[in-house]
Amino acid sequence: MIDQTSNKLIRILLLSLAAVFFPLQTVGESPRSEQIRNGWKDISAPLLMEYVRELCAEKYAGRLSGTKGYDDAAAWLAERLAKWQLKPGGDSGTYFQDFPNPYTLVLPGSELSLHLAGKEGEAKTRSYEIEKDFFPGSTSGSGEVTAEVVYVGFGISAPELNFDEYLGLDVRGKIVLVEVEVPVDPDRNAAEFAKWRPYSFHQYKVRNARDHGAAGMLYHYPIANPNCLYIRDLILTYIGANVVRDIFQGSGRIHPHVVKGIRKTLRERSFATGKIMTLKNFSEHHADGVGKNVIAVLPGSDPRLKNETIIIGAHLDHLGLNPLLTPGANDNASGVAVVMAVAQALAAMEPPPRRTVAFIFFAAEEQGVRGSEFYLLHPPPALANVRAFINLDGVGRGRTLEALAAKNYPDLWKVFSAANRQLVHAAVIPAYFHNRARPRLDAAHFMWADIPTVSFAATGAPEPPFPVYHTSHDRPEILTPEIMVDLGRLIFSAMTELADGK
Ligand SMILES: [Zn+2]
Repeated sequence: MIDQTSNKLIRILLLSLAAVFFPLQTVGESPRSEQIRNGWKDISAPLLMEYVRELCAEKYAGRLSGTKGYDDAAAWLAERLAKWQLKPGGDSGTYFQDFPNPYTLVLPGSELSLHLAGKEGEAKTRSYEIEKDFFPGSTSGSGEVTAEVVYVGFGISAPELNFDEYLGLDVRGKIVLVEVEVPVDPDRNAAEFAKWRPYSFHQYKVRNARDHGAAGMLYHYPIANPNCLYIRDLILTYIGANVVRDIFQGSGRIHPHVVKGIRKTLRERSFATGKIMTLKNFSEHHADGVGKNVIAVLPGSDPRLKNETIIIGAHLDHLGLNPLLTPGANDNASGVAVVMAVAQALAAMEPPPRRTVAFIFFAAEEQGVRGSEFYLLHPPPALANVRAFINLDGVGRGRTLEALAAKNYPDLWKVFSAANRQLVHAAVIPAYFHNRARPRLDAAHFMWADIPTVSFAATGAPEPPFPVYHTSHDRPEILTPEIMVDLGRLIFSAMTELADGK
């Protein structure tokens, strides 16, 4: 035992040594706490917004999976990952995992118009405006059709449900008007919805229209949306409520009442509207397109635990040109930016976390979560043992973070809620994620593969005076970077427990 004075001297000596070796570190803290503080400093609003702005740049043309714009964005991203010395996790020593990914380019020149008979019988044409009233179908055939519009409700032919909205109608060469989703709500009546689910897919609806001989389809779903099927002979246009109202005008029916009626009675309310419209779209289909997931790996530093992997993912793709540029700042440059900042901060840790951490930037999420589906069917062998998947989609705009599937996987969520309570203090709402309907998040495929998941999104931003979701207005200026900073720090802090813990 030593006396008080020498004890004090030794402490002073140790403190000065510590100051030499760990200049910024408070004595008593582990080297990890210092690294965590540095990581926090690095996950900053200017850095995150720099990444978002880069991804939204015109040169990447809205990052539609399969296009040069997407591939160039993926190459830029891979260059960064290499700079941070993360290991390539894709095909044959690259950062890219390729898969078949047909895509359709929307070319300029789309038109939508309604032909009305004037009072003296003279023809009158009402033309509609792109984005304000309609979007060219992102997988439309190329060409023009002028024909009568036939309303076919949800566009479903389901004999086993005793429900056929095309029954008794001749739509050959005509334009069908179709509602999105199905008459049954997945959250209100899960068992009943399960029977209707196959009919909720956009792909089903265009196929059914084509099978009935329709030449055009108006889809009451006013957004840009490439999650659909290309049919060469079907001109597809997405329309908003004002166009639907004009079509119903004078029919003696009120559109919202008709939809409500179908939902309530599960009886068809289809009718020929007598309205003549022109749909014109130009497109270029690429059946041989290639999608590219971007995969980077930070190998674990513990000889035993490195066989376990934590995946942090965000989809890199967006909607391309429709024909306006859809920059996809919130959806999902925000998620990519946060994953990049977290990857950068984790890569700077010495030694690296004990478990392996993989960063996956999915392609073709917008085309029907195809990148994550392919990844789970073909995971790189080194990453076979996945402990958790953290997904980020639409995390750039809001005041509150929503943690989908947190309540499905309470053990995983515990780590995040502890990190948030102790360090970050963000507003986070844990939620269940049922995903009874068609998959709309990459997380769905991980859940179905029994991998514990939490999927973050931001909510609660004041609505701007224009629609943002899947439009040209999803730009960097509408983001609230602070929420991205909070999320980046939360994931980074939780990762030191998830990837580094016992
Ligand atoms: Zn989207």
